[in-house]
Amino acid sequence: MAPTLRQGDRLGAATRHRQAFLRNHKTCAFCGGGAPSSTIEHCPPRALFQHRQWPEGFEFPACQACNNGSSNHDLVIAMLARMDPFENKGDLDGAAVGLMKAAHRQHPELLQNMMMRANQARRANRELGLRPRPGQTHQDTLLANVTDEMRKAVEVFAGKLAKAIYYMHADTIFPADGSLVMCWCTNTDLLRHGKFQLFEVVKDVPGEAPHLIRSGKFLNDQFEYKFSLSDEQHLFALQARFGNAFGLIVFGATTPGLLEQHIRRLECTIAREDEGPFRILQSTVLPLGLRPVGMHLESDNSP
Ligand SMILES: [Zn+2]
Repeated sequence: MAPTLRQGDRLGAATRHRQAFLRNHKTCAFCGGGAPSSTIEHCPPRALFQHRQWPEGFEFPACQACNNGSSNHDLVIAMLARMDPFENKGDLDGAAVGLMKAAHRQHPELLQNMMMRANQARRANRELGLRPRPGQTHQDTLLANVTDEMRKAVEVFAGKLAKAIYYMHADTIFPADGSLVMCWCTNTDLLRHGKFQLFEVVKDVPGEAPHLIRSGKFLNDQFEYKFSLSDEQHLFALQARFGNAFGLIVFGATTPGLLEQHIRRLECTIAREDEGPFRILQSTVLPLGLRPVGMHLESDNSP
């Protein structure tokens, strides 16, 4: 018979795991190497995964400030990642309503802002070819607005995920003066085109796309990614997909200014009319946030 663990033993094991982990990972992976690690950060956040099964190995050293920096957005990301209009597989564990309530407590405007007005829903349904079933209103097709809270949450999350995966694959910390730019799309792309178009442009770029596993169970249906890293480890592309909910691409460069020179060309190939151009997540050259339209960044000698 297997020995029964007492609560005290479990706590002891968790503490020992944390101490050993932080001994092996002494520096925060998220703020460029300046701060000692004091916590373990789970990235993607654990709440994103169903049945409390998150992939093994996605633990990262973080300082308190970096760990706290995303706590306000984790629930929004978890909620967002469970939206599956095709197979309805986003809520197999029945946790979605609880997540939504908890996110609502943190962001009291969120749910209201997500709701489309009747005429808005009618227009959007028509555009996407969604038809309410008999007895349903246009709002019942559950098409939601992308809100500012969601945009902010995806930005913060994408930056952390990129640094975490860079740390994992490059075995070094992404520098504080490196640059990160991001573009994302929601499942309306799947409704429109049957795929996340975002990934088409980079689909042939070689990279690693690992199986994500917990206790032998594959979790790629909830989160999967492909990471492409240059030989010198100074440039990378991260493509990440969260079920049938949303997808994102982060490009990163450890040399300041390198990526910024090419952002216009990237935008010409990937830029999306509904989500706007790339968002600057980290840069010492460009202002953060949405790049102002009309800004000219192409270097003079580029074709
Ligand atoms: Zn930090």
